Amino acid sequence: MTSADRADVVIVGGGVVGCCIAYYLTLGGARVTLLERAHLAAGASGVAAGMLAPQVEAPFADPFFELCLLGRAEHAPLAAALLEDVGLDVEYRQTGILRVARTESERVDLQRMWRWQSARGLAAEWVDSDDLGTCEPLLRGVAGRLLAGALWLADEGQVRGPRLVQALAMAAAQRGARFVEGTPVVDIARQGERVSGVQTPTEVIESDTVVLAAGVWSPDLGRRIGLDLPVAPVKGQILSLRGLGKTPRRVIWCGECYLVPRPDGEVVLGATEEEGNYDARPTLAGVNRLTEAALEVVPAVGSFSIDGFWAGLRPAAPDRFPLVGWAPGLEGLFVATAHYRNGVLLGPLTGRRVAEDILHGSGLGELAPFGPERFDSSWNAGPSVTDR
Ligand SMILES: Cc1cc2nc3c(=O)[nH]c(=O)nc-3n(C[C@H](O)[C@H](O)[C@H](O)COP(=O)(O)OP(=O)(O)OC[C@H]3O[C@@H](n4cnc5c(N)ncnc54)[C@H](O)[C@@H]3O)c2cc1C
Repeated sequence: MTSADRADVVIVGGGVVGCCIAYYLTLGGARVTLLERAHLAAGASGVAAGMLAPQVEAPFADPFFELCLLGRAEHAPLAAALLEDVGLDVEYRQTGILRVARTESERVDLQRMWRWQSARGLAAEWVDSDDLGTCEPLLRGVAGRLLAGALWLADEGQVRGPRLVQALAMAAAQRGARFVEGTPVVDIARQGERVSGVQTPTEVIESDTVVLAAGVWSPDLGRRIGLDLPVAPVKGQILSLRGLGKTPRRVIWCGECYLVPRPDGEVVLGATEEEGNYDARPTLAGVNRLTEAALEVVPAVGSFSIDGFWAGLRPAAPDRFPLVGWAPGLEGLFVATAHYRNGVLLGPLTGRRVAEDILHGSGLGELAPFGPERFDSSWNAGPSVTDR
């Protein structure tokens, strides 16, 4: 290795989280190397539906809800900056989400959400069952009969996950970041109580800081240095459909599935939730579950053709909140994972905050409550950590 290969920061993992961090670090002038064992967006980020949806499942406001609202607000300016920087449209759109109620009890829950979100000044409207067909033509026929109304959230958005990853990487590379694909990190190099870089199968890449953003595989590397990261997969399967001229106007969401219309006519049908499953291949049972759920709410999708199906592993902590912060016990190691169902939504805010903290020590702001130390008692990190 020459000193020219030395980086200020090495990032492990080329998903949306790693690439967002790389982007903001290079904006701040850092020398960055990102190592990805397969290809960029090979993990959950390549499969995500890309919804930017803090409101649709929020039963009340808490610090995580506030974080997600801020996360959503990052996307419009970022999409514009990336278009300007590298000429790639990441398909950020504020298409809104129509969350339908299938039963009276769902209607009661959604109307409760509607009331507190409206009182808070957020865009939230109630659509009566009889008006649903006008609001979303694909629901004509079932609206008054099967559905008990819907919550319309006009400010929810979407972006195309893999394209966001690609644009971030291109913009970071333009500012000098090095992206090394097909290269796994096999260990974290350390000198005493400090990280000194990472080990690949062929070399050590030295750096002052290492960011562990390897999604559901982050614990594998954590274990190498005695960190017991409480992150496990929640597998999600997804189908890509084409509606032959009959695509939904907006995202339609029911309890069991969602339909996300893309600008090019694709309609994404997602997603399953399968705890603890490390097998990232789609299954017949997964496809069946999604198909049944979609046909129940939107029978018209029965005529849609299937373009493909995929699965991804969402990295999740036991409390389902992100794990973002300096690792206890080993100076210079930063953990950024466990974004679970919100990695695309929260990627840019995470990237900006992590970069600011690494470069300027400015703290993590609204991400501060989501540090790894909240699981401190479950760390198994050897003497240097228990000494702290
Ligand atoms: C079906 C589905 C739908 C989803 N929909 C949404 C949505 O609508 N909105 C939303 O916000 N989020 C959504 N998510 C969640 C989102 O996809 C994840 O939270 C996010 O992609 C996690 O990003 P990440 O960068 O942490 O992990 P990943 O994207 O999994 O990236 C980790 C990367 O690290 C690499 N890696 C692993 N080990 C090593 C190593 N040792 N060395 C080098 N590289 C390594 C992997 O190859 C991988 O590319 C969805 C997820 C799924 C599965």
